[in-house]
Amino acid sequence: FVVFDHVQKSYDGQSLVVKDLNLTIGKGEFLTMLGPSGSGKTTCLMMLAGFETATHGEIRLNGRNINDVPPHKRGIGMVFQSYALFPHMTVGENLSFPLEVRGMDSAERNTRVARALDMVQMSKFAARRPAQLSGGQQQRIALARALVFDPELVLMDEPLGALDKQLREHMQFEIKALHDRLGITVVYVTHDQGEALTMSDRIAVFNDGRIQQLAPPPVLYEKPENSFVAGFIGENN
Ligand code: ATP
Repeated sequence: FVVFDHVQKSYDGQSLVVKDLNLTIGKGEFLTMLGPSGSGKTTCLMMLAGFETATHGEIRLNGRNINDVPPHKRGIGMVFQSYALFPHMTVGENLSFPLEVRGMDSAERNTRVARALDMVQMSKFAARRPAQLSGGQQQRIALARALVFDPELVLMDEPLGALDKQLREHMQFEIKALHDRLGITVVYVTHDQGEALTMSDRIAVFNDGRIQQLAPPPVLYEKPENSFVAGFIGENN
């Protein structure tokens, strides 16, 4: 479904931050990119979203090379750590606005907004402004804003990084449940081992621009392929 084929990336001719990445992500899969800060995870997500271009190699979505497809035509939803909701708009308007910009009529917009809010159990909050919501509620709205496009693929970059531990664990559960229910493909970036182990179908452990190991969580625990993976997975556990 998603293929990184010999992808390399350097910024401004500097050294490579992504080095010969080969990765195939299955439809409906929950794939986590896990690794320390600076290992190239976000860069991979940005290339997939279309905000950065690969220096070498090809990224394919549904068999199609997307290197030249602009971000809004990729059918991808995104959720970041900073929710970036518009403060002067209500929750409903925050979700409706991006659809309006794309020329969707108001009946279709309303249907989609209602459905997306329902998915994250926030229907009652449509008239509130972001400042009137808790951190977890705001993050749910950010999630709904990604889902309102009906994406086949959702990219999440440390979406729970700003939340306290208890709320994080709750949201991990919710995101996973939503993934299972909707059957969407999720590519999730985190540096948190516990989060990756709980949520993922498979984890790609990144270090220094390369995937050190790609495996389901139990395999990473039981059979780390090298000392980096063993050390990193072992941390905080
Ligand atoms: P983090 O968890 O801290 O976001 P990461 O694993 O996601 O880390 P990236 O953000 O992909 O790593 O960064 C990989 C490398 O690329 C880092 O050395 C970073 O400094 C560099 N880098 C990232 N974005 C840019 C940019 N726009 N211009 C130049 N260098 C960049």
